[in-house]
Amino acid sequence: MRLENQVAVITGGAGGIGREAGLLFTSEGARCVLTDVDEEKGAAVVEEIKAAGGDAVFMRADVSKAEDCEAMIRCAEETYGKLTCLFNNAGVMLGDDGDAESTTEDIWDLTMAINVKGVFFGCKYGIPALKRAGGGTIINTASFVAHLGAATPQLAYTSSKGAVLAMTRELAVIHARENIRVNALCPGPLHTKMLMDFLDTEEKKQRRLVHVPMGRFGEAAEMAKAALFLASDDSTYVTGTEFLVDGGITSAYVTPE
Ligand code: NAD
Repeated sequence: MRLENQVAVITGGAGGIGREAGLLFTSEGARCVLTDVDEEKGAAVVEEIKAAGGDAVFMRADVSKAEDCEAMIRCAEETYGKLTCLFNNAGVMLGDDGDAESTTEDIWDLTMAINVKGVFFGCKYGIPALKRAGGGTIINTASFVAHLGAATPQLAYTSSKGAVLAMTRELAVIHARENIRVNALCPGPLHTKMLMDFLDTEEKKQRRLVHVPMGRFGEAAEMAKAALFLASDDSTYVTGTEFLVDGGITSAYVTPE
């Protein structure tokens, strides 16, 4: 068991990467608080975990709300006695996100509120709890888009993920001597609801796959395995990193036919 005696909070736990992380972390011995704005799906994931013999609770929390983030950390400490891992994974990619001319202020503000302020709030309340536990790990989900510019614009989303990387680096430096490791997970294009809703035709999907050397979308379960590495004692000398798990997309100039 790679996460024995660990207690994790996983945001965005109702679907995609968060759901897979909940299933994997609990199967490796962690007790988990899964949070999301989607209560129905979140509760279903917890039932799935329990049916597999794992220990988890679900709580509704909107990461853009300070009081919700404070409550989710309190939930971990009250339910399981401590917090040792904070997986700030919730994020949105909004349909109307475009270039500088087309993106509205509302879309910009909402994207930043969830993708950036949500990570800040998780850390604001989570770091004191990690200190009380004697240390732990923080994993912030960024994206490969923080490393590359794309001709298909999503300016607010891309900017938000760049902010997550910058925040991760600084937090890693600040807390390195407090036994708290802070890393970013940078997924490539994934076969999850978020991207499949965005690339909603076969043509759009193929257009994106042209850039991926492996020629396929990643799976949420593959991201959960990378997060497990960052949460576990397999990565005790890893902090401040931008862990790219992207099928090679950020290394590619020209991909094979
Ligand atoms: P997903 O849409 O399946 O999961 C995201 C979850 O976040 C959903 O369950 C959603 O309900 C939840 N959520 C949305 N707003 C929230 C809020 N305000 N508070 C709490 N929860 C909220 O997508 P996913 O692919 O699993 O995304 C997880 C993370 O991975 C996101 O941060 C996303 O930006 C990032 N990411 C995804 C891809 C991809 O291709 N899908 C690529 C790179 C990075």
